[in-house]
Amino acid sequence: MQYRCPVCEMEMPRDLLVVIPHTEEHIVDIIKDKHPEWVESNGLCKKCYEHYKQQLHPGKE
Ligand SMILES: [Zn+2]
Repeated sequence: MQYRCPVCEMEMPRDLLVVIPHTEEHIVDIIKDKHPEWVESNGLCKKCYEHYKQQLHPGKE
């Protein structure tokens, strides 16, 4: 069963779905800023998660 990431709209296997942990809720704010229609419980793909995490901590790998 495929999962469509609501952020980048790419389809991918469901096991690449990431639900953002509560400790990372500032990432949620960044995503909602760019995707106001996105709902936290929808999750997002690992790629998007890494992307926004990187924005939050620029310069860190
Ligand atoms: Zn994505």
